[in-house]
Amino acid sequence: MGHDERDHALLSASSAHRWLKCTKSARLEEQFPDTTSEAAKEGTLAHELAELKVRNYFNPGDVSKRKLTFAIKKFKEDPLWDDEMLIHTDTYIDYIRDVSIKLPATPFVEVEKRVDFSDYVPEGFGTADCIMIQGNTLFVIDFKYGKGVPVSAEENPQMMLYALGAYEACKILYPIERIRLGIVQPRLPDGISEWECTLEELLQFGAYAKERATLAFAGEGEFAPGEKTCKFCRAKKQCRARSDHNVKMAFNLGELPPLITKEEAGQRLLAMRDVVAYQKDLQEWALSECLAGNEVPGWKAVEGRRSRDWTDMDAAFEKLTKSGVVAEEILWEKKPLTMAQVEKTIGKKDFADAVGEFVTQKPGKPTLVEASDKRHAITNKVTAQEAFKEEN
Ligand code: SF4
Repeated sequence: MGHDERDHALLSASSAHRWLKCTKSARLEEQFPDTTSEAAKEGTLAHELAELKVRNYFNPGDVSKRKLTFAIKKFKEDPLWDDEMLIHTDTYIDYIRDVSIKLPATPFVEVEKRVDFSDYVPEGFGTADCIMIQGNTLFVIDFKYGKGVPVSAEENPQMMLYALGAYEACKILYPIERIRLGIVQPRLPDGISEWECTLEELLQFGAYAKERATLAFAGEGEFAPGEKTCKFCRAKKQCRARSDHNVKMAFNLGELPPLITKEEAGQRLLAMRDVVAYQKDLQEWALSECLAGNEVPGWKAVEGRRSRDWTDMDAAFEKLTKSGVVAEEILWEKKPLTMAQVEKTIGKKDFADAVGEFVTQKPGKPTLVEASDKRHAITNKVTAQEAFKEEN
């Protein structure tokens, strides 16, 4: 099955993080079209390449080197193709290779495996990128081509549902006791996330998912607005629960002491995380309504600031230089590529080998993030070590 032909269940594994919390979201989302972004199409193309590489590695009789080379040639005709895909899919196959080589015996491998988890989620099924079984361990590995949001494997509901489906399919043949989940997100600097749990823990999650899925399938339970929960919800622009929640966060301040404390600042920042994103979503929706000729009281659509563009830049430049108004050199500026563009052009390895010695890391601008962020906290305070160095 082509990756873009995958059909979706009402309670899909990829949206499980949402319907597990906000059980009413699944039925509400049904009213909105499931649109595919350019980024998603790009991800589909990268997945197709990744799938062929894994098949070529584990089963060259099925996908030979020649077949793979031919497929890559075809992929390159796609307008969304980028040579970077070859490097990023290599990272994925390298990870799978590393995991499988360390095992005491050759694992049983399934690529792009349709998994049925309907014992836990009504009509639940999905497609796992790679499943491996060796001894008493079930591996579920997922390739994510996104470069925006890092996805953690830890208690990842999508992966756990795939694991439940894979477990149900193989439990008669294999004495599964351990589950290992791996997510490879090669476009992120720290793009590999792994997590392990026991079969008992997986089944406990299964029981919880079953309870929540029954509510979600019936459109019952509760709305649970939150930044992460609502982020990719198709109802997010019009959902009343999210709207009320954000309005409350922005305006319902209760009693107003003259100064807020650091604790209150922390709590309010946490509570208001989604307010700005929600305002943007609401503006987008109101604009589309105005443009469709519908009235949104108090608002209207207008033409934004106009910008100028040449109808024929070459002809204009020629006229300017030929008539002696300006010299050609003045009309063009020579700009260096950014470091990232140079690296993308020549590839990571050649970049590191050729000019790695000229690269230095400048400290990043201090940024406020949530305490759960993996990076180390920084302060402006001078440490005893630094003060001592200064005195010397
Ligand atoms: S927008 Fe948020 S609160 Fe509303 S249905 Fe979607 S996930 Fe639930």
